[in-house]
Amino acid sequence: MILLFIIVLYAVAASILFCFIYSLGKTAHESIGRYFRRLVVSGGLTVGTYATAMVMNTGQKAMITYSLYYILLDINMLCLLFFMLRFTGIKKDLTIIRRISLCGLGIDFILDIINFFTGLVFKCSQCFDNHGTGFFRVSERGILYSYHIFFNYLVIIGTLGVLARKISMSPNIYKMKYAGIIIVLLGMVVCNSLYLKLNLMFDYSLIHYAVLSFVLLYFSVIYVPRGLMERLLVFTVANMKDGIICLDVDGRCVNANKPAREYCTSELDDSILDLQIKRWFSEKISPDVNDDSWESERRIDGMTHFYLIEYRKIFDDRRKYLGCFFIIHDRTEELMKYNAEKYRATHDMLTGIFNKEYFYETAKALIDKKNEQYYIVCTDVKNFKLINDVFGVETGDRLLKQLAQVVSGFGSDRCVYGRLTGDKFALCIPAVKFSEEIFLEKFSGVGSFLENAVFKTHVHIGVYEIDDTDLSVSVMCDRASLAIKTIKDSYENVVAYYDKHLREKAMSEQRVVSEFEEAISTGQFHAYVQPQISAEGYITGGEALVRWIHPEYGIVPPSKFIGIFEQTGLICRLDHFMWEQACIQLRKWNDQGLQDCYLSVNISQKDFYLLDVYDIMTSLVKKYTLNPRCLHLEITETAIMDNPYTQLPLISRLREFGFVLEIDDFGSGYSSLNTLKDLKADVLKIDMGFLRGNDHGGRSKTILHTIIKLAKALNMEVITEGVETKEQVRFLTKSGCDIFQGYYFAKPMKLSDFEENYLHAQLLM
Ligand code: C2E
Ligand code: MG
Ligand code: MG
Repeated sequence: MILLFIIVLYAVAASILFCFIYSLGKTAHESIGRYFRRLVVSGGLTVGTYATAMVMNTGQKAMITYSLYYILLDINMLCLLFFMLRFTGIKKDLTIIRRISLCGLGIDFILDIINFFTGLVFKCSQCFDNHGTGFFRVSERGILYSYHIFFNYLVIIGTLGVLARKISMSPNIYKMKYAGIIIVLLGMVVCNSLYLKLNLMFDYSLIHYAVLSFVLLYFSVIYVPRGLMERLLVFTVANMKDGIICLDVDGRCVNANKPAREYCTSELDDSILDLQIKRWFSEKISPDVNDDSWESERRIDGMTHFYLIEYRKIFDDRRKYLGCFFIIHDRTEELMKYNAEKYRATHDMLTGIFNKEYFYETAKALIDKKNEQYYIVCTDVKNFKLINDVFGVETGDRLLKQLAQVVSGFGSDRCVYGRLTGDKFALCIPAVKFSEEIFLEKFSGVGSFLENAVFKTHVHIGVYEIDDTDLSVSVMCDRASLAIKTIKDSYENVVAYYDKHLREKAMSEQRVVSEFEEAISTGQFHAYVQPQISAEGYITGGEALVRWIHPEYGIVPPSKFIGIFEQTGLICRLDHFMWEQACIQLRKWNDQGLQDCYLSVNISQKDFYLLDVYDIMTSLVKKYTLNPRCLHLEITETAIMDNPYTQLPLISRLREFGFVLEIDDFGSGYSSLNTLKDLKADVLKIDMGFLRGNDHGGRSKTILHTIIKLAKALNMEVITEGVETKEQVRFLTKSGCDIFQGYYFAKPMKLSDFEENYLHAQLLM
């Protein structure tokens, strides 16, 4: 009898081992697999230890082995609890339970260990079965055994509680899984209780370990609830956003979810659904195709929805036709997002017309068709920055929107347009459709809302007649913009055309700019001086004029580079250099005892924007300890009147400091009597340029004479520049001119020549 029981126990341990091996790598989640393996290993060891304890040869050994068995039993119960917690997923964080369990286990562990000495938990003694075979069994349960029982039953109740809770939460289809485990566990508990209550010879509940292991293995690894697949599929289909309609082999609808019914606008009426399916078969699907798709539109709740309908036949493994299904995918949201993104990528956010990238792309496609001649037309608003500054950005934006409207008015399938940047718009238009008059007329109304007595909007138009279709559209636009540059000073709506010279000019300008850095650092800029002579014939001083002594081209006159440097702002560095050169020269003359001789320097309009002219000038005269009266500052009328509010006080400050202020080139531009009224300068420098050529019956002379008189009356000294003939000198002297500068006396020359030939000389007129 005892032998049979022991064999059964070892068989139980072996079957547990089998469960262990079978489960390897088969559980759905690795952590569940881990917990399962811990459970079966501890179960196998518990059963094995029990069997071993029974067959021990001495009472002491049996005592120790039974203690080990009780400890393993505790561990096994805990493994069961933790496995259940993981398996059911009831509690994710096991830290607290783990700590409490370890405490409980620790106590039982100590009690079992000291039991050897105290015998307070259990005592064992040898018994004999019917055949007289001896074995050891727990014969007495001491007072502390109740702790062991309490701990184990607490754990098992906890495990049953976990299972019960999981059953209450699970859908019906899964309940069976947990109920099966509960039944086996309860069987085990009942068996164990009977063993304790009736003080049976053997603990038959241990046999349940094999059953429990198989049951757990089955439910955690093998079992799939019956019909689960089908039910899962049904619910998946029901919960899908896409509409699904399944038809059987006879074309009968076997399943249609809510979105599908909504699409067919028949929540209730299946006949409409059938009607829709029939229509698809008659209009869209040919019988011999296995799958197909098409787009469709529906108005639902006043809004148009866009759908993609997919049709597919279903075949079994042997290619036998089983039925078919339709997927109705609502693409409205996707399309709206796509359209919004496409709009953002191709449109300018402010004006709503096409952006630069889209314009380049579509214009290129048009031009590449090569079926007609195209023009690239670019627009530019004169002084747009000023409009933003004076009227505010919102007004600027309004103007841009108006421009966009005009530009888009030209749009057609043969003409594309877009906004490049800021106030620059571009069109790619067939040559036959381009008309200067129409463009000028359309743009003439732009900005009328901000026009007043002093301000008018001017739109400049640049045209590139495409002669090289291989160029990128961006280069074509650059060419049209280059044409605009030639009319940038014009105060009208004007059209300018690109030609090759413009490009060459632009390139040579580019070269000049790129050579500046090297030129200034290697001393290629030189200060030349043109003498100024008093009416009495004395050299009073001279004007410092820059010359670029280029290593390749020789002497380059200022007309070739001053304008370019003014555009790029490089003029500031050049002027600073020239002013310092003049100061160095004056210092040298001062040191030679020539205190009265002065030098005039030119101040460009740009210098006032980019430099602190007052600070630089005063620092320079301090640095070279000069009398500021030796440094004459030439400023053009335009430079002053461009920004009179800041310029006039600056000029007053410079004069107060002691500089001599000269109005340069008076008479060469649009001179205004207002300038003379507002501007208190020391010298009026009149350009003889306007006297050259036709004298218009002496009218020029009269004007010149009057200007000189006017300047004198305003207490200004008069210098006339550009004096070329003796006759001019005579006339100017008679009119009261104080000082002369011109080729009649001398051309601008090197400083050394000026010092050598003129500085100490007195000229006879
Ligand atoms: P500007 O300041 O009015 O200088 C006078 C220009 O008239 C000089 O031309 C001079 O050579 C020229 N000139 C003098 N007498 C006669 C004459 O009898 N007949 C003719 N036809 N021309 C005469 P330049 O040196 O070519 O300078 C041209 C302009 O370049 C200057 O006009 C000035 O505006 C600018 N410039 C020259 N050097 C500098 C400089 O260092 N800085 C700045 N910002 N501008 C400069
Ligand atoms: Mg000058
Ligand atoms: Mg001048």
